[in-house]
Amino acid sequence: MPGRGSVALVDVNCFYASAERAFDPSLEGRPLVVLSNNDGCAVTRSPEAKALGISLGEPWFKLAPRAKEWGLVARSSNYELYGDISARVMELLGRYSAWLEVYSIDEAFLGVNGTPEELQRLGHTMKTAVRRNVGVPVCVGIAGTKTLAKLANKWAKHNPAFDGVCHWDAVPAAQQEKLMAGLSVIELWGVAARLTKRLNAQNIYTVLDLARADPIKIRDRFSVVLMRTVLELNGTPCIPWKRNGSAATSSSSAVPLPRRSPPAPGCARCWASTPSRPAPGWRGTGSRPSS
Ligand SMILES: [Mg+2]
Repeated sequence: MPGRGSVALVDVNCFYASAERAFDPSLEGRPLVVLSNNDGCAVTRSPEAKALGISLGEPWFKLAPRAKEWGLVARSSNYELYGDISARVMELLGRYSAWLEVYSIDEAFLGVNGTPEELQRLGHTMKTAVRRNVGVPVCVGIAGTKTLAKLANKWAKHNPAFDGVCHWDAVPAAQQEKLMAGLSVIELWGVAARLTKRLNAQNIYTVLDLARADPIKIRDRFSVVLMRTVLELNGTPCIPWKRNGSAATSSSSAVPLPRRSPPAPGCARCWASTPSRPAPGWRGTGSRPSS
C-alpha cells in the first residue's frame, strides 16, 4: 500500500447464510443453517440459529427433530452461489480503493486514506452499498495495520455500539486496552491452538499480553511471523500486501486496481434478485436435506 495509509477489513457476516438470504429474502429473520457437503452438519448459522444455541458443526440428524419446533431452515451448501455473491462484493469494494486484497471468499483488505472520521464515514458507505447492491451484511474494521483492522472488525461485529464499523483510532486508549485484555490470544489472526499453548506457557494469555511483549524476545522464542503480529498490534504495519489472486507476498508486487466511481446512492438491491444460478437444495422448515 502506498504511503502510510490505513487498512479497512470488510468481512461479510455469516457469509453462507447471508448469501442464501440474498437469493431468497424470505429467509430474513428466520433461524437458518447451511449444511456441509452431503448435508452432514451445520457449517454456517444465522444469528437467529446461534441464538437457539446451535453449535458450529452440529450434525443435522440431531437438529432435524427440533427444526419444526424452532422454525429452523436448513440449506445444502451451494458454492456456485457463494462464489457469485463473493465476486459481486469484491467488485463493488474495488470501487472504493485502488488497493484491494481479496483475503478469502468473504473478506477483503482495502488500502484507504483519510481522517478517522472520514474513514468511518467511508466504512458506513461501503457497508450500506454492499447491503443495498448485493444484499449481504458486512462489518468494517479500520486501523493502521492489518492485524488491528482484523481486531477492529471483530469488535464491530460483536459490539452493537459500533454499528458495524469500528475505526481503531477512534476507540479511546483505555477501551482499546480493555478490549484487548478481554480477548484470548487464540482469537488473534494467525494464532492457532498449538501456538496459544506455547504462549500461555510464557504467561501470555490475552491479546494485550502479546501486545506488551518484547518483539525481539517473541522473535527469538517463537518466530518472525509472531514478532510482526506484536509490531502490528502496536501500530507498525509489517504484514505485506498480496497480489490479488496469487501467493505473492512482496508489498512491491501489489498491483493497484483501477479506481472507479462508487455506485449511485439509492440503487436498489438489483444484484440480489439476479444471481446467475439458483440455489439448489431448498430445505423447508423441518425437512431433512437430501445429499
Ligand atoms: Mg465473514
